[in-house]
Amino acid sequence: MRQCGNCRACCTVLGVPSLKKPRYQACEHECDKGCAIYKERPDECKAYYCAWANNEEAGDPIGLKGEERPDKVGLFFDATLHKTFGLLIVAHEVTEGLSKTYWGEKVLKRLSKRFLVAIVFGDQQRSMVGPPHLLRTAGEQMRQYALTGRFQE
Ligand code: SF4
Ligand code: SF4
Repeated sequence: MRQCGNCRACCTVLGVPSLKKPRYQACEHECDKGCAIYKERPDECKAYYCAWANNEEAGDPIGLKGEERPDKVGLFFDATLHKTFGLLIVAHEVTEGLSKTYWGEKVLKRLSKRFLVAIVFGDQQRSMVGPPHLLRTAGEQMRQYALTGRFQE
């Protein structure tokens, strides 16, 4: 695993039920060093590793580089195996529009040559990039995702 350091991207974006922390709201425990209660952080936090933190040596097949830590790129990624699309990547924008920055576009351009990547921000804005043959078959899945927030197995 890579060390998160002072990255707090997922802390802001993801909900933490045990803290009653909603999605897209900074956690009260975020601090300059990352998490102020790191050793005692909730189980949900201990269990979560984005694709960058879960690096290649530890089994991350999407190959994010060390300098592409989420707080620099403005995106963090989840990778799940999908029976139709192979590895499906979800790119979470930390704040709206960060997929359009220099770093966001650079990483997405590379990933989209191999993988289907759904770019998400909240429940409102979603788009998808990827190899043309995968994009052609992704339309219905995207509609389902928009309705349910989940991709079908
Ligand atoms: S987004 Fe990834 S690197 Fe950043 S704090 Fe979360 S798990 Fe760590
Ligand atoms: S408790 Fe710590 S690890 Fe969990 S969301 Fe808050 S700042 Fe992040």
